[in-house]
Amino acid sequence: MPERPLVENYHAATAPQRKFADPLQFWDETLRDGEQTPGVHFSPEEKLRIATVLSEIGISVIDAGIPVVSADEAAAVKRVAGAGLRAKILASARTVPADVDAVIRSGVSHIAIFVAASEVHLRYKLKLTQDEVLAASTATVRQAKDAGLHVAFVTEDTVRAPFDFVERLYTAVRDAGADRLVISDTVGIMTPLTFRWYLEEFARRIRPRDWSVHCHNDFGLAVANTVTACEVGVTAPHVCVNGLGERAGNASLEEVVVALESLYQVRTGIRTDRLYELSQLVEEISGVPLPPNKALVGYNSFSHEAGIHTHGVLAHTLTYEPLQPEVVGRHRQMILGKHTGKAAIAEKLKERQIAATDPLLAELLRRVKEGGEARSKDQLRAFLAEYRALFEHPGISDTEFWKMVHDAGIRAEAA
Ligand code: MN
Repeated sequence: MPERPLVENYHAATAPQRKFADPLQFWDETLRDGEQTPGVHFSPEEKLRIATVLSEIGISVIDAGIPVVSADEAAAVKRVAGAGLRAKILASARTVPADVDAVIRSGVSHIAIFVAASEVHLRYKLKLTQDEVLAASTATVRQAKDAGLHVAFVTEDTVRAPFDFVERLYTAVRDAGADRLVISDTVGIMTPLTFRWYLEEFARRIRPRDWSVHCHNDFGLAVANTVTACEVGVTAPHVCVNGLGERAGNASLEEVVVALESLYQVRTGIRTDRLYELSQLVEEISGVPLPPNKALVGYNSFSHEAGIHTHGVLAHTLTYEPLQPEVVGRHRQMILGKHTGKAAIAEKLKERQIAATDPLLAELLRRVKEGGEARSKDQLRAFLAEYRALFEHPGISDTEFWKMVHDAGIRAEAA
């Protein structure tokens, strides 16, 4: 009788329902949407440091920012565009001619032209009609094409817009020369099942050759929805290192890439063994700490403490690890504490060629468990208080703001 496999792989059963683009091109948004994370700001040097690693690990397109925002931002985009990186450098623009001019001047080869599509955005934010949006979109797409740029056309809030308008708008910009069409789930309301339906309907109606998705994480579904989009055949998914971005963030680069690589054996062309290094760099530069339980790059992702788990992993890593930590450039950690069992202690002693008798092992285990329980909660509480003070209200504090109002000579009108 043939030997049974150690674990069953049911992904094989759904393989016929997946059609991945080949090659998949990852479009990173860390320097644009990621920088829009509340409280985050990147200097031109910092943008270049992040872009360099993104390019080295195999990211195809890097959104470096929106040049029209400020002279500083324009300088940062120019800096990244001129660094001779292998990745294509892109800059973003509204459907406004001056925005497109600023992108052209920044020296990038790629542009993303964006405008909102849903009725709520048109009526309350843009105060434009569908026809006005369509006219501005086609005009700026032509302007960018005439300047020789690769043009991606993006709508915000695509998945809450009337499909007939989306069809009319995307068909028009494609006919005007747009090279890539981007669908955004700006407020993260899609689910994998509905998003699959949406993308298949989009493909049926608009027949895009080259298309992207931009997924937000308001319901914790950004990665799942982005993986779904890849299954449907999207060519250039948007991702952000550490899942940075507006509000709850974007689809995390490391999670999307490693899910595709490890679960579906898709060759993404990304150097996954440098993902931890990249994550740590962005954590440091952005100042946004990773939750310890963040998938793949959080401190706990490859740590084991509970006795049953440690024992299992020591016997065979497949018991409690779906992938080897080295895949993302990390190492497994055995944590000694309250939940530790004998196997972990015996394994730890082996590091110094020490073998202990059972009673001594039991005594050591008792001491480790006590020590684990005694870890300073006061220290953790003090740390949390400081963390909350820093992160609950990033940016300028209320006190600072009102001082600025006063210093600017603005006074309340007398009643
Ligand atoms: Mn966004």
